[in-house]
Amino acid sequence: MIELKNVTRRFGNTVAVDNLNLTIETGEVCVLVGSSGCGKSTTLRMINRLLPHSAGEILVDGEDVNAMNAEQLRLNMGYVIQGTGLFPHWTVARNIAMVPHLLKWPKERIDARVEELMTLLDLDPATHASKYPQQLSGGQAQRVGVARALAADPNILLMDEPFGALDAITRDNLQMEMLRIQRQVRKTTVFVTHDIDEALKLATRIAVMDQGRIIQHDTPENILRHP
Ligand code: ADP
Ligand code: ADP
Repeated sequence: MIELKNVTRRFGNTVAVDNLNLTIETGEVCVLVGSSGCGKSTTLRMINRLLPHSAGEILVDGEDVNAMNAEQLRLNMGYVIQGTGLFPHWTVARNIAMVPHLLKWPKERIDARVEELMTLLDLDPATHASKYPQQLSGGQAQRVGVARALAADPNILLMDEPFGALDAITRDNLQMEMLRIQRQVRKTTVFVTHDIDEALKLATRIAVMDQGRIIQHDTPENILRHP
């Protein structure tokens, strides 16, 4: 469970996130939706402490994120962003293996995990494992980004507009993939998008943000009924 209690983040005089309260239950896919600049990314990045919060409290399974060490945070939370952040001079396999490698898993275990994840993400290991990111399509690269985030089996998946740069068809495919993967691995997920249709498709709960606050927090069904 992720709990944000009276969380505020300021950048100089800008209040990016304003006294926000949000509870995300274990196994839930919470989609933060709202127009550009409303504070979605800032909220997401405070959860894994990529950005420190200015005030309030963020708890993961009851533990204050400020009390966790950096490694614990990175291992516990997979992070996927638009543009993937893949290392261009590393192969697909090495990119996916990044965290298991840092954890010093034995080579056989890493190889098996990479193959398993590529298969899960519908990437043929024989064809793609030895490729470099620039040899992939946008959709394939984004799949590798998701595989990398899942590699060490984190409890939480944080996704920041991961499909924002993809064409409509690829985007639709990746959304369907996410639904299928969620049924298989069931991660507590916080997903940021400005696209309400994407939110309605993927969410178990939607938090609608406006000017650093949550103005609605409900199931997709209820949001559709009372927009
Ligand atoms: P994205 O929109 O893909 O999340 P960024 O994280 O770079 O891209 O920026 C998020 C928002 O924060 C944007 O509205 C951007 O203009 C703003 N922003 C980012 N960095 C700064 C900065 N150093 N000063 C002012 N605004 C910034
Ligand atoms: P969203 O993800 O909903 O587009 P952000 O969380 O990126 O919104 O930004 C919320 C507000 O905080 C915006 O006004 C943005 O310009 C500002 N902001 C975000 N990052 C920075 C930063 N690094 N420096 C200054 N202002 C920022």
